[in-house]
Amino acid sequence: MPDRVLAVDLGGTNIRMAAVAPEGVILHQIKNPTPNPCTLDALLDLSAQMADECRAALHSGDEILGVAYGVPANVTSNGVLQGFANIPALNGVDLRSALRDKFELPITIENDATAAAIGEHWLGAAKGIDNWIMVTLGTGVGGGIFVNGEPLRGPDGGAAKIGHICVEPDGHPCGCGSNGCIEQYASATAMERMAKEAGMETTNSHEVFDAWKNGDEPAKSVFERMGRYLGITLGGLVNTFNPELIVIGGGAAAAWDAFIAPLNAEIKYRAFDGSAARARIVKGMLGDDAGILGAARSAFLEATS
Ligand SMILES: [Zn+2]
Repeated sequence: MPDRVLAVDLGGTNIRMAAVAPEGVILHQIKNPTPNPCTLDALLDLSAQMADECRAALHSGDEILGVAYGVPANVTSNGVLQGFANIPALNGVDLRSALRDKFELPITIENDATAAAIGEHWLGAAKGIDNWIMVTLGTGVGGGIFVNGEPLRGPDGGAAKIGHICVEPDGHPCGCGSNGCIEQYASATAMERMAKEAGMETTNSHEVFDAWKNGDEPAKSVFERMGRYLGITLGGLVNTFNPELIVIGGGAAAAWDAFIAPLNAEIKYRAFDGSAARARIVKGMLGDDAGILGAARSAFLEATS
């Protein structure tokens, strides 16, 4: 019977579920608003309903090997969620046990940024690369780190939070409780704020990029700062991990041409020559599907281990 996995991308706004085949093909995908408030019961009920919809779209002989979640939280090795900023009701919840009881199937749970890195490593820009780093520039700045072919999770699932590396000790307040994290200078949200600070009347980061293309000076200053600060962050990571590759994903990576020059200049300046020369910098290839595919990959690996 053909093996399938149901993979879920749980966000603060939407929840997506996809039926995925072992070679990484998405066979069917559905999206719903995340329940508000998102209690455990509400999440379990919606997940079961979405799973029924996905199952109905599959062939009768298809076998579901497991259910995989990517969540914007730390996931401990016991499957307990911590640091869930967007969905506080799920903090401290043993999601793995709750889902296992609901689905009666093996459950895998990954941090969403780690899942995106696993996806790019499986099918995208980092295929075949053992030591590399991913940053995702979206509403926030997500991070993933691979060492010797394995994602770095840390004993509490708290590793690779690249978005909360500080670049300005007394800088803009961050949702994590600190100040001046790179997330406050390189996320799409941050670019909108910096554009307003620079006097621009803009509503989103794409408009800032459009203005940059037209030679707008305030837009240039926004991307100069964004690229510089992200380069400082990545330069430190190049010195720490000596990566072969840095993958930049997420919606704001579309403004690549506007930030890549100051970013490269900063890495060249901050990092040791050999390591800086080694680290190729490329765009992510899987877009929004990186996380859901990465979660599915973890479930397939779990099923065959
Ligand atoms: Zn922070």
